[in-house]
Amino acid sequence: METLTAEIKKNSKKVPVKGMMDNVMEQFNSAADQINLHPSIRKILSITNNEIIVNFPVKMDNGDVEIFRGYRVQHNNALGPYKGGLRYHPTVDIDAARALAMWMTWKTSLAGLPYGGGKGGIQLDPSKYSQGELERITRRFTFALADNIGPEHDIPAPDVNTNSQTMAWMADTYMSTRPPAERTANQHVVTGKPAGSGGLEGRDRATGYGVFLSIKIWAEKNNVSLKDKKFIVQGFGNVGYWASYFLEKEGAKLVAVQDAFGSIENQKGIVVEDLFNYTKANKGSIVDFPDAKNLKKDNFFATDCDICIPAALGNQITADNASQIKASLVAEGANGPTNVEGEKILLERGITIIPDILCNSGGVVGSYFEWLQNRNGELWQLDEVMAKLDKKLRESFNKVYEYSQRENLDMRTAAYCIAIQRIERAYVERGIFP
Ligand code: NAD
Repeated sequence: METLTAEIKKNSKKVPVKGMMDNVMEQFNSAADQINLHPSIRKILSITNNEIIVNFPVKMDNGDVEIFRGYRVQHNNALGPYKGGLRYHPTVDIDAARALAMWMTWKTSLAGLPYGGGKGGIQLDPSKYSQGELERITRRFTFALADNIGPEHDIPAPDVNTNSQTMAWMADTYMSTRPPAERTANQHVVTGKPAGSGGLEGRDRATGYGVFLSIKIWAEKNNVSLKDKKFIVQGFGNVGYWASYFLEKEGAKLVAVQDAFGSIENQKGIVVEDLFNYTKANKGSIVDFPDAKNLKKDNFFATDCDICIPAALGNQITADNASQIKASLVAEGANGPTNVEGEKILLERGITIIPDILCNSGGVVGSYFEWLQNRNGELWQLDEVMAKLDKKLRESFNKVYEYSQRENLDMRTAAYCIAIQRIERAYVERGIFP
């Protein structure tokens, strides 16, 4: 009989490429079936609460005016205010924003936070704009969204191509447009701010640390040492860099990296800090890094390694490349990097996947700490932050791991079951208004 892998591979060319929304819905429905989710709650969670699309003008450096389209999708707030990042990327559209908002709902629920899920961004390639233009785009986007976000309503954070500087502009714009007496009390309208502007010490590394910690706990549970284990990373931005940084400290070896510009490999190991400094001096690109050879884009996922960390965009591990992956562990730093067909192949091949909603949840946990700190007028030290983060992430990992073992499920389905059941409980207790 034909194996599932061969069958999916053969059919993959015939099937139209599915969007991220198809992906998240298939994951949701399979977990909903597993837990026998109440049909009314399945209906509620299958749709988004609000979808905001704003078109706004921005003056460019040359005096021309360009119109931008921004999105904010608020999926569900049964457990608390909407929470989730803003992305600046050409692939941002309503489908991507919906899917990413849904993933946030499951992620915040799984992490046991008092938040719902939201996501958004602007469809643009930030490399085409000056710093001044990006500042004006961000401020005007914030102004356009202002009535739909808020520190107790919807709290954005950084995502692909947005960072602490973007959040500082957003917070400043939002606060500047509030009545004077409310201004400083609104600092927690966004998280991921720079430490000097109400940000949290350690928020920068929180997501990458969580990815690393998930791998470390998995290794401990499987009696595996991370020393000299080879790992590859797709995306060498905030998440990819910090995950690599902590894994290298643990003795693991970075052997290949792919970013938006190209791919590199060195089986003897790439020094993380050297690559980081190189990208800083090379407009963010890893290409032509002197201590590695350039690699063909399509060969990246086939690189020899033990651990594979997709930490860039969605839909990267698919039926086209899942059968080539050499790693025994895929740790999802990005949101939605493995599509349903890719996942089937990985699981059939006995490869473990630490799912995004668990693996990269360090970011939203760090954001929650920042929000609490601002709300309570506190300032936390880095060691305090890291200890709290560590504890919270271990709890989540253990919860998912135990559920998956007990119910004989893969870790993604287990994570979804836990996340959805928490939201289901809230609806059952409160009922549906009126
Ligand atoms: P980032 O902008 O800091 O870095 C993105 C990296 O991905 C860059 O190295 C870029 O060159 C690379 N990249 C972009 N397009 C690519 C492509 N087509 N192929 C290969 N590489 C490509 O973004 P980030 O904050 O590190 O986010 C990365 C992923 O992690 C995203 O999926 C994001 O949603 C997810 N995530 C981020 C956080 C966070 O706290 N920043 C939290 C949870 C999840």
